[in-house]
Formats: sequence, structure tokens, C-alpha cells
Amino acid sequence: MKSEFVVEPKSRGTMRRLAYLFREELGLQDAVYFPIVELLDSMRDAFPEFTYEIVTDEELPKNVHADTDITRHHVRIKESVYDGAVEGSGRDRMTIAHELGHYVTLRICGFTLARNFGEEDVPAYKSPEWQAKCFAGELMVAEHLTRDMSVEEIVESCGVSEEAAAYQYKKMHEEDN
Ligand SMILES: [Zn+2]
Repeated sequence: MKSEFVVEPKSRGTMRRLAYLFREELGLQDAVYFPIVELLDSMRDAFPEFTYEIVTDEELPKNVHADTDITRHHVRIKESVYDGAVEGSGRDRMTIAHELGHYVTLRICGFTLARNFGEEDVPAYKSPEWQAKCFAGELMVAEHLTRDMSVEEIVESCGVSEEAAAYQYKKMHEEDN
């Protein structure tokens, strides 16, 4: 990855830019329907250390759909989630994007995970979960391609859930005022 990735995770705007640079690096900046399943395989071309594995549903806890081991560069995805994503399920596609969000923000960009001593509240933007969620949303619903779309159009064209489409729509347009 190029040095542009060395950014601080300060805001949604930063994550949006990061998602765009990531798309650009992959030559996918104009893909309205982001090929997240195919990307799992092409990730290995761009990031040789990256590996992923499809595991049986029993292998991960019930409420965990996928997980990322940053130190081993390894993502595990439940079989049902992978199959759902292949079939175009918006929720399952977003789960995979979320895990890649963890990988990209923590591994590629070198965002550090600071330990939270004491009982201070961690601002949302500093939380790895917020970062992964934000990156995934911005990756799957590219602002520069969907700004003029309705929520329904975003669901259809981007292959995301109604909930995710409405969320990205809101975030895109609340900044207009
Ligand atoms: Zn997560």
C-alpha cells in the first residue's frame, strides 16, 4: 500500500477517503456493486500475507459471523455467511466488508490499538468496531457513485441491506446542510 494510507482515523470523511483509495488501489473505484466475495481472493494478490478461511457455522460462536486475527492476517467466515454473500445477501456481504475493514484499518494502515487505561469513554471514531463499520459502509456504498440515488436504488445497485442503505444515505445527505 502507498503512503496515502497513513492517516489518522479521525472522521467518517477520513474513512470515506480511505475506502476510496482502497477501491482505487484495486482498480474498483467505479464498481457500484462492490465485488466483496471476489475480493477475498484478489486480496492475496495485493496483500500476500492475507489469508481467509470458510469455517463451519459450529466453529464460531452463535453471535459471531466472522472474525479477523490481525497478527496472523487471517479472516474466518462462517459458511452460511459466505454462501449468503455469494447469493447477494446484503447483510452477509456487509459482514465480509466489516472484517476487511478491521484488516485494512488495523493492519494495512497501521492504526494502532491503544489500550484504554482507566475508565475513560473511548470516542466512537477511536473504536475499532466503529472504524470497521464505517469503512465497510463507505466501501460498499461509495459516496461518489450513489450521491444521487434513493435508498431503494442503493439497495438494488450496491447489494446492501435496506438498513445499511438508509444509514449511508442519511450520513451522505446530513452533511449537505
Ligand atoms: Zn468487528
